[in-house]
Amino acid sequence: MAYFLVSFLWWVFLSSAIVSAGYHRYFAHRAFKANPWYEYLVLLLGPLSGSGPALGWVGVHRLHHNHSDTNKDPHSPKFVTKWKVLTSMFNVPSIPRRVVKDLLRNKRVVWFYKNHKRIRWASLVLFLIVFGYIWTFWLFFMPMVYGYVGYGLLNTYCHTKEKVRNLWWVNILTGGEGWHANHHDDPRNWRIGRRWYEIDMGAWWIWLIKKS
Ligand SMILES: [Zn+2]
Ligand SMILES: [Zn+2]
Repeated sequence: MAYFLVSFLWWVFLSSAIVSAGYHRYFAHRAFKANPWYEYLVLLLGPLSGSGPALGWVGVHRLHHNHSDTNKDPHSPKFVTKWKVLTSMFNVPSIPRRVVKDLLRNKRVVWFYKNHKRIRWASLVLFLIVFGYIWTFWLFFMPMVYGYVGYGLLNTYCHTKEKVRNLWWVNILTGGEGWHANHHDDPRNWRIGRRWYEIDMGAWWIWLIKKS
């Protein structure tokens, strides 16, 4: 149980501070400004969530917003089966350069993209040395499982054939991303939760670290 709790808390941090606040609201939507240390932290820890390097994630996500629920949307339940949406993280489509033009000008993002496989292996070795194999299982492998399940559920259930919707339970694994209808409504807003009861941990992190 202790293993699970620590690993889950680690995932809460990764999903809200790194994926939701970093990959999504910072890099994909430019919703707030931050210092370079935060960019490094996001680029370094992001792949531990199973989401791959930032550049690819942002490309897929921008395609999703640009073409929501059309046949160009990389993961729309309207056009592909639920199973395909659920596993869409394994099939990254090719991304036109113009979609990520701004990030291609960011040397940090490009460096982490080019070296992401090496970084992933180095992180694995480091985890094994520092934490041993049992903790490596819980801190390195399990977060990827939470990520695949969490974002898979988000893409499968927050979009239906008819509409985009908010689902509170999707937040358990995604740090505030479950308020997905709010997000489509106003993608550049760093707050996705709007009402007092819409708990949005990604926004708490942003409030802590954003520049002015
Ligand atoms: Zn969406
Ligand atoms: Zn978005």
